[in-house]
Amino acid sequence: MKRITMIVAMKQEAAPLIEQLGLTETSDISPILPCKTFAGQYKNLSINLVINGSDPLLGVENVGTQPATLAAHEALRNFAPDLVINAGTCGAFAEKGSKIGDVYIGERIRFFDRRIPLGGNYEAYGHGNYRCESAIELAEQLGLPTSTVCTGNSLDMSPTDEAILREEEIVNKEMEAAAIAWIASHYKTPLVAIKSVTDLMDSEHSTADEFAANLALASKNLQEEVLRLLDLLALQSDTAAA
Ligand code: SAH
Repeated sequence: MKRITMIVAMKQEAAPLIEQLGLTETSDISPILPCKTFAGQYKNLSINLVINGSDPLLGVENVGTQPATLAAHEALRNFAPDLVINAGTCGAFAEKGSKIGDVYIGERIRFFDRRIPLGGNYEAYGHGNYRCESAIELAEQLGLPTSTVCTGNSLDMSPTDEAILREEEIVNKEMEAAAIAWIASHYKTPLVAIKSVTDLMDSEHSTADEFAANLALASKNLQEEVLRLLDLLALQSDTAAA
């Protein structure tokens, strides 16, 4: 049976998936980290889902790169998945043709705010730049558009960030994927980043307002497309077993 681990930053993003797949909460993978785990079976797939949990002092969701890397590391160590799916929300540019609720699959994942102009390979190290070959094939089969998923630790963007982001053809700006790609690359485990647009970064509304207004819709669309992805993976796993 194919083992799939889904890593989702916020409980609001994960809720429709947990409900649709009928996943149940399992004992935490880490006695220290606040991440929460859910498990279940979908068709011939064994599914684990990890959310990053909330900050014990501030009560907010643990978004951003460090919780994502640590949750992914615990999940990769404990579940040894065949595939990691990072499902989440993102910002995008209307000018590049994106709309609220559009769902993309990352063909490439990079950091956009790690600028290390020290010569040698430091610049490339800063950018990350993880190419997701198996994700590209899956996107093609699902008929989903592909993007460059750009990861950083701010919800807003500085003018420098914006210039870097605009260089990419189709941009999904978010806060976790490259951090997960980094640790998944150590485990040599393929990663599919699937992202639903909550906010258009070039609209007249603030990113924070759009994010809050569209989180439920984007999470619902995300759940629908993740389910189509799981259906395809289940079919492939069946064919491989036959
Ligand atoms: N205001 C929210 C915090 C959301 S942080 C709250 O009160 O809970 C944003 C989360 O959504 C991150 O996990 C990130 O991956 C994703 N995201 C959506 N739109 C984004 C954008 N424009 N820039 C960066 N991250 C974004």
